[in-house]
Amino acid sequence: MAKLGYPFTLGVASGEPLPDGVILWTRLAPDPLNPSKPGGMPTQTFTVSWQLAEDDAFTKIVQSGTAPAQPDWAHSVHVRVAGLRPATDYFYRFKLDSHTSAVGRTRTAPDPQSTAPVHFGFVSCQRYEHGFFTAYKHLAAERPDVIFHLGDYIYEYGKPAHPQPGRWVRPLESNAECTTLGAYRNRYARYKMDADLQAAHAAAPWLVIPDDHEVRDNYRGLLPGDGSSPAVFLKRRTAAYKAYYEHMPLRQRPTGHNLQIYRWRPYGKSVDFILADTRQYRDGHDMLGPDQEHWLLGRLKSSASRWKVLAQAVFFAPRKFPLEPPSTDAWDGYPESRARVLAAAPDGLVVLTGDVHNNWACELERGVEFVGTSVTSMPGTTDASAILALNPHIKFFDGHRGYVSCVVDTQEFRADYRVVDFVDRAGAPVRTVAGFRVADGHLQRTDV
Ligand code: FE
Ligand code: CA
Repeated sequence: MAKLGYPFTLGVASGEPLPDGVILWTRLAPDPLNPSKPGGMPTQTFTVSWQLAEDDAFTKIVQSGTAPAQPDWAHSVHVRVAGLRPATDYFYRFKLDSHTSAVGRTRTAPDPQSTAPVHFGFVSCQRYEHGFFTAYKHLAAERPDVIFHLGDYIYEYGKPAHPQPGRWVRPLESNAECTTLGAYRNRYARYKMDADLQAAHAAAPWLVIPDDHEVRDNYRGLLPGDGSSPAVFLKRRTAAYKAYYEHMPLRQRPTGHNLQIYRWRPYGKSVDFILADTRQYRDGHDMLGPDQEHWLLGRLKSSASRWKVLAQAVFFAPRKFPLEPPSTDAWDGYPESRARVLAAAPDGLVVLTGDVHNNWACELERGVEFVGTSVTSMPGTTDASAILALNPHIKFFDGHRGYVSCVVDTQEFRADYRVVDFVDRAGAPVRTVAGFRVADGHLQRTDV
């Protein structure tokens, strides 16, 4: 067999941190954008070795092993590491033949009794063709304990016939819309070749949830939103979620056409992270589906941590618009679901949201919502001052690209909106455009 070229072109990642374990990820792809053979790989299983160490020079290796990279899973590698110490930094890398991957840093979750502060960032909406992932370079430099991705990791769109100015900054691997497994795989490969995105994955473990564009714009349940039949759409959704799993440091493979997204991750006494799936089980009147809703309400009620962070994809607070009716691709389309979540919500609810490509901060009937802007995706037109005037519970708007950086302990929840001034070229510096703390269910500015 011919020797493989360098196979770690898509970087490394880790995720799903527990007090004693993490998932390590990579994918073999010596020719990542090969249009006919995924990653340019032969159709056989390869055995990849991995090492986990206490230091980035790998002088104190604490665990090592091998893992299969199978053609059925696009030669992705998911290593389940256990037996680690809580709230501890570890470094990892992969090897195949004479090739060695980049080094990733990961960190376990704290033990249940920990009162130490938790530092995390959250991001969403990274449309590759719209710009450079500079926000990730800055988020990586913070080396947070964990990073959340709230959806739209890829966009399935093809190239428009006439792209608007500033909306075709970087070319995709193909100008066609993704509908097949092969096309979704190559779209992920295109994104994951980005050095800033690789740096953010190598800087911290991630917890990820998809939104609509990992599959198709505005999809919900079995309804594609384009008029095609549910049976045809289910095949597409299955392919899309398979490719998502293949490129994310997830703990669970998809089974059949279902990918288990909703889950929770406790981080000591400071915070419980509750991750919700607002796409797969949605129907005409129910955002979460009965099983997930039952689970979610139970988690909210039983959590003993100071902060209950509901990480999810779409706008939670009610919104009135000056001209249009309320959005139905948001919790405004499911007011009864939202009322049940709020009724179960204890003191200390903080909702984290992506999807809308702008920064907002809202006070809820109970708790608060931080809506993070896009990494690159350009927003639609927004009459922010009219929306703020019509919705007194919405306290803040900002229209830059960026991410949100949070520090949480058993007393305080602080969130800083970190922004860049341009994404049409590389190299934008970062600044904090606003900071908030949560006090008695209200938002307080910390930067003015
Ligand atoms: Fe988006
Ligand atoms: Ca979205």
